[in-house]
Amino acid sequence: GIDNGGGKIVSLSAASHQVLNRRAIIDHKLLTALNRNDLQVVYQPQFDIKSDEVTLFEAFVRWNDDELGYVMPDELIPIAEENGLIHEIGAFVLEEAATLAADWNARKRPVKVAINSSAREFTNPSMKESVLDILEKTECPATYIQLEITEKFAFQAEEEKSISIQMKELQDEGVEFVLDDFGTGFASFRYMQHLPISKIKIDKLFIQSLLTQPKTQQLVDGMIQFGKSMSMYVVAEGVETKEQFDILKKMGVDAVQGYYIGAPVTAEDISI
Ligand code: C2E
Ligand code: CA
Ligand code: CA
Ligand code: CA
Repeated sequence: GIDNGGGKIVSLSAASHQVLNRRAIIDHKLLTALNRNDLQVVYQPQFDIKSDEVTLFEAFVRWNDDELGYVMPDELIPIAEENGLIHEIGAFVLEEAATLAADWNARKRPVKVAINSSAREFTNPSMKESVLDILEKTECPATYIQLEITEKFAFQAEEEKSISIQMKELQDEGVEFVLDDFGTGFASFRYMQHLPISKIKIDKLFIQSLLTQPKTQQLVDGMIQFGKSMSMYVVAEGVETKEQFDILKKMGVDAVQGYYIGAPVTAEDISI
């Protein structure tokens, strides 16, 4: 129990004990899971409006553990950022995705892959080298790769310089950078000013209320026009219905992603 100062003892509820316990188990098991190759990657198609085809697949990490069940990224990534294993997860997902991209481009047709990078990964001074090493090892040209950075994570001013240098060097090699979750954080404009971003993704939060809230429609329209005025490629994520697709197309987005186009699936379940 916790002494709240007023003489009364307040106990942590059974539920919060369970959450703490699950967090501790994830923390404890993650390294072994990575070493045993227990993590998986699933891929979701992104549909390019102008060419009328799927031109990219976004990679998401998955972990299905016997004891824990599915550990989804929203639960896993914050823990990995804290215990440092985010770098290993990032390297694992990139290697899988780059292998796939190289194979698809060689045997099938031109297609890119996008990988979610925690901005925290770029605070590692050897991030650039690590990315280039993986691309070399998998024989994947850098131009097949996009890295999606979320604006949820705020950099320290001192960190920003080294982060932007590494990103610019990767961009020179051909890697493209995407600002993820656009509109949900406070740092969008700052990131667009200082980082080599060529593409923005409007968060699914806005897409979900697009047809029910008139204000959201104006907001999304404004985000699209803003992106275009900055010469960015604009993607809408979380598109689940034909109605949402049609209105976004009319508003001029460059690409859409979401269950309406296809849910994330394992590579074996994709035919391109
Ligand atoms: P995100 O990058 O914004 O990804 C979109 C999330 O929405 C994914 O959840 C995806 O499975 C889900 N989604 C896709 N289409 C739809 C739709 O039509 N409707 C709805 N309701 N959801 C849809 P997921 O896979 O659970 O990932 C959550 C977040 O975790 C991601 O958000 C991303 O920020 C992060 N994440 C996922 N995989 C990785 C990874 O390998 N590394 C890092 N650093 N972060 C990752
Ligand atoms: Ca492998
Ligand atoms: Ca993403
Ligand atoms: Ca999002």
